[in-house]
Amino acid sequence: MIELKTPAEIERMHVAGRFVAEVLSEVGRLADVGVNLLDLELHARRMIERRGAESCYWDYAPSFGRGPFRNVICLAVNDAVLHGLPHDYTLRDGDVLTADLAVGIDGWVADSARTVVVGTAAEEDLRLVRATEEALEAAIEVARPGNRLGDISAAISAVADDHGYPVNDEFGGHGIGRTMHEDPHLSNKGRAGRGLTLRPGLTLAIEPWFARTTDRIVYDPDGWTIRSADGSRTAHSEHTVAVTEDAPLVLTRRAAEEPATRGAA
Ligand code: MG
Ligand code: MG
Repeated sequence: MIELKTPAEIERMHVAGRFVAEVLSEVGRLADVGVNLLDLELHARRMIERRGAESCYWDYAPSFGRGPFRNVICLAVNDAVLHGLPHDYTLRDGDVLTADLAVGIDGWVADSARTVVVGTAAEEDLRLVRATEEALEAAIEVARPGNRLGDISAAISAVADDHGYPVNDEFGGHGIGRTMHEDPHLSNKGRAGRGLTLRPGLTLAIEPWFARTTDRIVYDPDGWTIRSADGSRTAHSEHTVAVTEDAPLVLTRRAAEEPATRGAA
């Protein structure tokens, strides 16, 4: 069932969204060569505790995971892209790090992800990261009343096609609001003009992710971390977006959406 939100409810989601943005800004600022993923997890955990927010990941136990998730943030490095389980790993020069975070505040949830390159970035990694950001912005642009869900999917896959990246459609975006995952499912691949008609009050997590040279995935033995099947590098960009009477409202926009490499122009 798809629940349309009132403007007041969307504003409550925006409160959660601003906080998610703040944590992801901080994680992006801290991510650097020599930093351990567990330190980033701990930092996010402390911010969430101080804010009195609720992690949507803690104790999350879907069918595919090995036992409940006991972290507040997903951190995925290089060929890892989704559900990255924070572990004892120290970031190296040129690593591609994706951070994905969903939290609730006073019963309303927001979900966002970003990818940064730490240290010296390879040009091909920056291109991949920027393609997911470009796909996300293109998708947000068409999240308007009267358009269809397929327009959003098609906007994402068109950008991937332009860059020559294959698109996996097993994991994509989703409705969001009172919980992290609500109807509808939003594929990253689709046909314009098809599917649900978008209406004001629809709130979606839009999340293009690409691997450089494959659309296939493999799972780590932990049952959580999803990697590109061929080991090629990956990137993931996500925002929580509300369809409104006016322009699409991005609820998780970071204050200054930094480029993929911190310090770059
Ligand atoms: Mg997410
Ligand atoms: Mg999501």
